[in-house]
Amino acid sequence: MPDVMDAPTLLLKERLKTLEGDTPPDDFKHYFTKDDLDRNLLEGVAIQAICGFIKEGLATPDIDNPVCPKCKWLYDNVLPPGDDE
Ligand SMILES: [Zn+2]
Repeated sequence: MPDVMDAPTLLLKERLKTLEGDTPPDDFKHYFTKDDLDRNLLEGVAIQAICGFIKEGLATPDIDNPVCPKCKWLYDNVLPPGDDE
């Protein structure tokens, strides 16, 4: 597992455990941080979505799949309202 854990990420993971225990399937569109997406696109490294899902290979933000409900919930309810971070 890449060493990308920080306090907010751990908090998110703890909140998630209280939501539901299953693992989101790979065909959802997940929310990633911009930095992680840049690294993924440039280097092809695995990145972790805000829901905890690990994306191996290149993320494809344009695919016509439903948005991951965990990511969306976290984005709407947990993450601070962003300017453009
Ligand atoms: Zn997700």
